[in-house]
Amino acid sequence: MASQEIEALANALARLPGLGPRSARRAVLWLIKRRETGLTQLVNALNAVQGRLVECDTCGNVDTTNPCGVCTDPRRDSRALCVVEDVADLWALDRARLFTGRYHVLGGRLSALEGIGPEDLAIGKLLLRVEAGGIDEVVLAMNATLEGQTTAHYIAERIETLPLRVTQLAHGLPVGGELDYLDEGTLAQALRARRPVG
Ligand SMILES: [Zn+2]
Repeated sequence: MASQEIEALANALARLPGLGPRSARRAVLWLIKRRETGLTQLVNALNAVQGRLVECDTCGNVDTTNPCGVCTDPRRDSRALCVVEDVADLWALDRARLFTGRYHVLGGRLSALEGIGPEDLAIGKLLLRVEAGGIDEVVLAMNATLEGQTTAHYIAERIETLPLRVTQLAHGLPVGGELDYLDEGTLAQALRARRPVG
């Protein structure tokens, strides 16, 4: 039997998405075997992040700096803005390495069923950002769910009179597909083939 401390570590790991009790025990054994390298590295990485996580006031991304690394990266094109539902979607799209602009995280999607309206999301903030000018294209990268598409439609209507291009991810995304679960090739393809809203 393992000590209380080791059990506590296994329990904490078992709560991570994608891991269960069995995988967590394997991870603990792996860490014990490599306590000088793997364990130390993990502890250092956790310490470096703990207490420093902040939400970016500009885009809603989560990072250790505010504004976040995406917003402050001078190599990014500030004239293109990609709107996503969640931070997970931002990270997924950015892994595909095709979109070089900046992002805006809504913090969810419109849902009549769950009583989530525009005021519950960062839509007002998005409108201010877009109305301030300097943006040529807004890419609506909502999930291919009914609620995601309703959200995209709502935003498109709110910004249709502004002098900019509004596009959305190409069809071909699986219906009901959450961006976060798609592989990078599929995401890159959906971005590359994005089309005007309307
Ligand atoms: Zn940001």
